[in-house]
Amino acid sequence: MKVSDRLQEIQQNIEQACLKAGRKPEEVKLIAVTKYVSAERAQEALDAGIHHLGENRDEGLLEKREALGDKPVWHFIGSLQTRKVKKIINHVSYIHSLDRLSLAEEINKRANRPINCLVQVNVSGEQSKHGLSPDEVIHFVKQLGQFTKITVCGLMTMAPLTDDEQLLRSCFKQLKGLQEEVQQLELPFAPCGELSMGMSNDYPIAVEEGATIVRIGTALVGE
Ligand SMILES: *Cc1c(COP(=O)(O)O)cnc(C)c1O
Repeated sequence: MKVSDRLQEIQQNIEQACLKAGRKPEEVKLIAVTKYVSAERAQEALDAGIHHLGENRDEGLLEKREALGDKPVWHFIGSLQTRKVKKIINHVSYIHSLDRLSLAEEINKRANRPINCLVQVNVSGEQSKHGLSPDEVIHFVKQLGQFTKITVCGLMTMAPLTDDEQLLRSCFKQLKGLQEEVQQLELPFAPCGELSMGMSNDYPIAVEEGATIVRIGTALVGE
């Protein structure tokens, strides 16, 4: 199926979720997650009008970045090993997986400009998932003030892979609550306006609960 057809359907779902929640569709950025697909397929997403691309591994990011250039806005969404930071940091606009001080320190050291970082939170508490536990977030964010090249532009989470709508909603609501706590601190380095949540399985619910960035792979470009 063509990316443009899938995109149309996804945009309709996002619009509907916004309508339900009294939000504006322009508030939601759509990232095409291209980790499963070729650079050609990623190009098709760009041709369909998508501006944001996401990759979760350094090799994938660099390969796509080489093929597609710097016109798309590049997001690194996967867990990031400290030693890989220098390879990718100056090729991306957003890092969605900031979850430890040693990583912040390395980003700060290697970046040639301020980087939009999202703090990853493991809201569901699943062992398999990366991220800080919710009760660590505020203390962690405060500590990031020492790094001049880190802007805490938001929070990110991955919800469990489930059809349990209540469980999904509760995850997204918790992330939204944490975002509000960070915003109340009014830290100049942590505007925290973005909520990166929602994937193929759950993005309409995430948008209803306040997502400003959805990361969609399977449903948009395929597996
Ligand atoms: C793969 C991935 C996605 C996209 O997943 P789909 O279910 O294919 O939409 C989103 N976020 C992260 C962090 C991922 O690794």
